[in-house]
Amino acid sequence: MASFNLLLLPGDGIGPEVANEVKKVTAFLGSAGIAKFETETDLVGGAAFDAHGVAITDDAMARAQAADAVLFGAVGGPKWADVPYHARPEAGLLRLRKDMQLFANLRPAVCYPALADASSLKREIVEGLDILIVRELTGGVYFGEPKEIVTLENGEKRAVDTQVYTTHEIERIARVAFDLAKVRRKKVTSSEKHNVMRSGVLWKEVVTRVGKTEYPDIELEHHLADACGMQLVRWPKQYDVIVCDNLFGDMLSDVAAMLTGSLGMLPSASLGAPDAKTGKRKALYEPVHGSAPDIAGKGLANPIAMIGSFAMALRYSCGLTEAADLVDKAIADVLATGIRTRDIAPKGVNAVGTTEMGDAIVSALKRLT
Ligand code: NAD
Repeated sequence: MASFNLLLLPGDGIGPEVANEVKKVTAFLGSAGIAKFETETDLVGGAAFDAHGVAITDDAMARAQAADAVLFGAVGGPKWADVPYHARPEAGLLRLRKDMQLFANLRPAVCYPALADASSLKREIVEGLDILIVRELTGGVYFGEPKEIVTLENGEKRAVDTQVYTTHEIERIARVAFDLAKVRRKKVTSSEKHNVMRSGVLWKEVVTRVGKTEYPDIELEHHLADACGMQLVRWPKQYDVIVCDNLFGDMLSDVAAMLTGSLGMLPSASLGAPDAKTGKRKALYEPVHGSAPDIAGKGLANPIAMIGSFAMALRYSCGLTEAADLVDKAIADVLATGIRTRDIAPKGVNAVGTTEMGDAIVSALKRLT
């Protein structure tokens, strides 16, 4: 039986509650003889600050670098509002992303048929939706220099952010998108603003070349980022994989997220470059939601985003496609039976808690195997 090392970083607030439910799924996959998971657990965010005075220790970082996959819960909360800036809870996540060089952020937007009525769009627009946004995560306008606010001679202020991309940065994110499209519906939409931005011109040029020379079997289309946002709410099912820079990806992935309903349902993955020797990528998997201080400790959190993130780890870090499909199917089956946590329950429906939802998913896994 294949064996994998996972580092679990539950973090703060509802992080530990939803992370606990993943442990049930890994235990099940082990007992069913599908794969064995050696899971280590460490602190991150406010929890790490309380214990060690930093948002993540060097020791935890070393474990993250060595793991087959890192599963991250959520960090932050009012308790740490006044900690020094360098030790704020988010610094733990930022260090993980930076030190592991996680340049590709994957955000699937999947609409489970059972939840189609929970979307703000009409059922026929979202039912069966399955798209993937691939966002460049370590470059672009959030990091480009100069980045400053200066005071001009006349006393007025001038703020500058710099959008900057190199060929290499665009090539590597484009390859992630094309590789993913290969095992999906073989279509990539590249989104930028080449009509008004020089970085968009280079982006389009490089993605086109990578597509033509390395992935001739994948259909490639280009949508201006504003038009892409509009199309996402008009007819999202036209898309398969959308690839975009850091800024547009930030916005388009949030738009796509809301097509599918609650924050408690949304998984994500962040991937690094493949290792030259092993071909393995460093990877971190996390729900899109935060630590939800308003419901933390109450057993109300929806664990599906966290369990869905683990399913992404099975798919992209462990190469266990069937096991990943199995977990996704178990989630869909549970939803189809009408079991709901509070965030996805229609009015009048009795909601279950975090552990009950986790148990229901494990029971569905048992039925499916
Ligand atoms: P949030 O995602 O924590 O919560 C937003 C709303 O969604 C809340 O009402 C919450 O109860 C609900 N919600 C979120 N996840 C849920 C789940 N799994 N099940 C049911 N309901 C869920 O965002 P926020 O309130 O803006 O931020 C709270 C804290 O989390 C802040 O400290 C913020 O900095 C931090 N945060 C962390 C991350 C991260 O760790 N990656 C991401 C976003 C926010």
